[in-house]
Amino acid sequence: MRKRLVSGILLVAMVAAAAGAKKLPKPGWNLFSKEQDVQLGQEAAQQIEKQYQVVSNAELTAYVNRIGNRLVKQGGIEGFPYTFKVVNDDSINAFALPGGPMYVHTGLMKAAENEAQLAGVLAHELSHVYLRHGTNQASKANGLQIIAMLGGQLAGGGMLGSLANLGIGLGANSVLMKFSRGAESDADLMGMNIMARSGYNPIEMARFFEKLEAESGKSSKMQEFFSSHPNPGNRVKMVEEQMRYLPSKQYGAQEGNLQQMQQIIGKLPAAPKPGTQQQQQQGPAPTTDKMPSIQLSGRTQTYQNNALQFEYPEGWQQVSSEQNSVTIAPKEGIVQGQDGQTAFGYAIVAGAAQPPSGKVDLNKDTQAFLQNLVQSNPGSKVASNPSQVSISSSPALVTQVQGTSPFRGQKENVVVITVDRQNALYYFIFVSPETDYKRLEPVYQRVAQSIRINR
Ligand code: ZN
Repeated sequence: MRKRLVSGILLVAMVAAAAGAKKLPKPGWNLFSKEQDVQLGQEAAQQIEKQYQVVSNAELTAYVNRIGNRLVKQGGIEGFPYTFKVVNDDSINAFALPGGPMYVHTGLMKAAENEAQLAGVLAHELSHVYLRHGTNQASKANGLQIIAMLGGQLAGGGMLGSLANLGIGLGANSVLMKFSRGAESDADLMGMNIMARSGYNPIEMARFFEKLEAESGKSSKMQEFFSSHPNPGNRVKMVEEQMRYLPSKQYGAQEGNLQQMQQIIGKLPAAPKPGTQQQQQQGPAPTTDKMPSIQLSGRTQTYQNNALQFEYPEGWQQVSSEQNSVTIAPKEGIVQGQDGQTAFGYAIVAGAAQPPSGKVDLNKDTQAFLQNLVQSNPGSKVASNPSQVSISSSPALVTQVQGTSPFRGQKENVVVITVDRQNALYYFIFVSPETDYKRLEPVYQRVAQSIRINR
């Protein structure tokens, strides 16, 4: 399986190289919905705006918004509620949060030589948002916990708090904010296309990045940008090469006078000390010594939304229902940490994920899903080969995973069912402490047999 996958990727890479023009990147595997990207970004924005001084100067803000909106509309990346704000901070940085909020430091605006360079940074950041790199990386790094979190978000905590409990904060080193080199070259490629469509010369983006990087050794002012946007290498060369495949176009778009904006920045009150981004406290996963006794009456209740329905044990609670996932657990199976974080010792999680290609490849997508689960749960491992079953008349795979239960000293059996519904991978996760698994197994089997997927 793996070898075939790798050679498939190589083949695709070779075909692309032969063709010359790189294909525009698409958003990758993601456990978050687009709406959840937006929710997360809005929560994060509130926190960011407590730490940084957002500039209220109308002229500056309007200028950056004109450039940003031009890139969004002409660049063809609509679909998120993008916002553009200027932050009074002398360091050369800009950053975007999932779902759209973007911040440009005054230091970066001062360093730009022309509007296209400023637009280049915005286009690069917009590409990270549009390609959903932050939540893609979080999904890859913390799969099972993310699924439980998205499904089990308890009232009041908010998504940001739940992510903080997984050790995912807003710091420059967080999986949400620090991009891989692959994500960087995708953002460069996407960004240069957005620029070109919007009438900005794409080469200015690469030149600006290279100029800043060359100077970054001398000054600490741009360290944060390059630590969260590592250089994928040969930026100027890549952009020059790819520009040959863009339709020839007059560049030189102007939304205002950058020099005038730089004068306004020069008159702003001194920037406050750079926001000290507090590292989110990363507590250990909650555990408890108390092993509960879960009552099983044998009777069931029905869970139903417009996509699917199934029977679950009477008395278990729908802990929460998000747009694309639901977690159902007995009250005694939920382990609550002191700081509000949650773990499930017993649970049924059901949801759907969009495969990156738009069409499910059951074997491949199940592998990716399982890999995410295991990676995000140190000490857990896939304990069986997937076996083929049929769920709601669709091909499905059942795989056993072993992990560590939140009931201290207990191992945990996790059964994962993945269902191929062509344009969506439905998944069902059944969690039980190993010692109680014999009792739960027939119950979970009945749940699985009752699954009906409507679309
Ligand atoms: Zn980047």
